[in-house]
Amino acid sequence: MLTIHKPEIIEHENETVLQAKFECGNTKDILWFSTTNEFGSYLCHERGDAFLVAMLLYAMKRREDIHILAPISERLYYTLTKHFVKVIADIFPGYHRIQIICEIDSGNLQNAGGVGTGFSCGIDSFCTVIEHTDESCPPDYKLTHLTFFNVGSNGDYGGDHARDLFHQRIEEVRPCADELQLPLVTLDSNINEILGMNFVQTHTYRNVAAALALQKLFKTYYYSSGYSLQQFELNYSDSSHYDTYVLDMLSNNTIKFFSSGEIYSRVEKTDIVSKNPLSYKYLNVCVVAEKNCSRCYKCQRTLVTLDLLGKLDLYNKVFDLNDYRMHRSKYFALVLSERKNDALKQEIYDAIKRDNFSIPFSSYLYSYPHVIFQFGIRHCPGFIKKQYRDLKRH
Ligand SMILES: [Zn+2]
Repeated sequence: MLTIHKPEIIEHENETVLQAKFECGNTKDILWFSTTNEFGSYLCHERGDAFLVAMLLYAMKRREDIHILAPISERLYYTLTKHFVKVIADIFPGYHRIQIICEIDSGNLQNAGGVGTGFSCGIDSFCTVIEHTDESCPPDYKLTHLTFFNVGSNGDYGGDHARDLFHQRIEEVRPCADELQLPLVTLDSNINEILGMNFVQTHTYRNVAAALALQKLFKTYYYSSGYSLQQFELNYSDSSHYDTYVLDMLSNNTIKFFSSGEIYSRVEKTDIVSKNPLSYKYLNVCVVAEKNCSRCYKCQRTLVTLDLLGKLDLYNKVFDLNDYRMHRSKYFALVLSERKNDALKQEIYDAIKRDNFSIPFSSYLYSYPHVIFQFGIRHCPGFIKKQYRDLKRH
């Protein structure tokens, strides 16, 4: 049995902490969420929703029922017990169906009516922000707040390095939030250390838990999609594959989660973002450094996409375009050689074909290094030349 105690609020000089003790077998610990005092009054201690969602996979992995000593929103209790727990047990290898023992809260919680989304200055979140701040967005759905959470994107397993990166990245994101005139809600947590789980498999659950901790602030929360709806699958390896479903299952009667940008491919999102001048100053997609390194797989993917959209030069402040041009042929070669196993590279390849975009012939040679090694460039087999001609023809 995993027992989660009643959440409590602790106010410090600069931050407000929402925390709950828990016990599971021989483990006794405290799970906490912490925000600045400005937003501390929105932390929800009246319900256990955030803690239940945060610890759900933890308990299911260990085959432990959850006894939570705080009321759970009626809708969340319903969706978990009648739908979602079984689905998770079916898709995650080695996970088990468990019971949830708790009181149900069918009342309405006071809520400030905020509309929020996580903002990292990457392609997905920039697209969400553009779509929910422009004139075409109905007033009730326009963003009122941006968020930045330390729930795994700065390091799957937390620790000091991840926390340092979290604080550095806040300072990278804040100037853009200021220009957008939207307050930035930051929230730290030790969920990473407690879970000890792979972030990619669990990111939707972690971020939803953090937003539920702030459920007195938000009535609507957009979670930027990583994949388009056409790539939907119940695949445990990345919760982005099925987050439209997760977000519905984890909404309650106070806060409604939406997947955002799910109707677009990554190439289409990049196109939307590239029309917004703020992105020329602030776009940050890098997975290895505070500023764009221009070489990691996300920097590469974004640069190649901007290149084929004809928008590359607009981004000379945030990427090293000279470095990109030196490696351009190889990056396009990776699109050619890895697209079959990478849905996002396939999207780029489809856009290259659709737009009749001309990529260097050397990319075809680079994409078959084993063939070049065997035959030499001069005796490059006909099928490589044929692929090149086919692509040019489309
Ligand atoms: Zn990078």
